[in-house]
Amino acid sequence: MTDARALSRRIASLLAEERNRLADFLVALADFDRQRGWGTLGYASLFQYLERELRLTSSAAARRVTAAALVQRFPAVVEPLRDGRVCMSVVYELSKALTPENASEVLPRFYGLSKREAEALVAELRPVANPPRREVVTAVVRIAPPVRVSAPAGARTAAPVPERTSPAKSERVQPDADLFSAAARPRDEVEPLDAELRRYHLTVSKAFLAKLDAAKDALSHTIPDGDTEAVLTAALDLLLEQTARRRGLVKKPRAAAPKPSDDPRHVPAAAAREVWRRDGGRCSFRLPDGSACGSTTRLELDHILPVALGGKPEVGNLRVTCALHNRLAARVMFGDRWMDQFTRDRTRAAALPGGDGP
Ligand SMILES: [Zn+2]
Repeated sequence: MTDARALSRRIASLLAEERNRLADFLVALADFDRQRGWGTLGYASLFQYLERELRLTSSAAARRVTAAALVQRFPAVVEPLRDGRVCMSVVYELSKALTPENASEVLPRFYGLSKREAEALVAELRPVANPPRREVVTAVVRIAPPVRVSAPAGARTAAPVPERTSPAKSERVQPDADLFSAAARPRDEVEPLDAELRRYHLTVSKAFLAKLDAAKDALSHTIPDGDTEAVLTAALDLLLEQTARRRGLVKKPRAAAPKPSDDPRHVPAAAAREVWRRDGGRCSFRLPDGSACGSTTRLELDHILPVALGGKPEVGNLRVTCALHNRLAARVMFGDRWMDQFTRDRTRAAALPGGDGP
């Protein structure tokens, strides 16, 4: 009994220490983010820093990005985290609910809540901003007879829309857009069914469904059964072809060489194509550990020696980078003060690859 009591005291003290360390960690991380320390080290975002330098999984990194942003916006959450009134699993929910106007009133309502209770409270606080709009279109396994899976409006609503409660005015929440864009983006759900098939849950608007139906009508000669996957595949093929053309990646380049452009920024299609192929269609910016960033989103062609300094649009002077590293490279070249004249973007934690969510 005495042994158990002594051990329990030690466990309790370790727990207190762990919470303390967590609060200190988040305060330090928030400072690091505020100073854009990750940018100085060559990372495109705080997320990339956590994932690549600290080797966190994408979901762990995403949770900490959310927490660091929350601590920056609302320093009042630090003490409740330190003494255990708020736990890490609730931070993501808090980030959806807190605004500068409601923080002092709403924060205490999260004390001692589990993740599920916090989710319920967020739903209560944000009835207008966050309706459970799950008009889920369920994919059908191949062996089933072809079924049109376009959901007529309201036909397959998975969750009934609850009665709208009228919150007191002070409770009405305008989620912080900045905080929201990074970590709280709604994610699609993909569920593996077998080696090939995936069930894809996607929350869409009625306008999307109307467009989908219009596309099915337009393609009714070539895709008579209106198979959603076939229609969307056709649409995506068109889109990808168009994007590839814009990037100069068309399969058959024009036979005659286009006449040279006077614009020093103009990159000839042939050069763009070669650089794209060489860099594998990924950001080639080198991170501190020597590996390439590898991002496949918001890609741009970057002049290694800038045009302003006489850099030519030639293969040897071009590389594929993500927009964040393109800007970071310019900052390194021209300095923060110069770049701040042109952009208010502080390259904050905007580049959050689709992780599996906090
Ligand atoms: Zn990059």
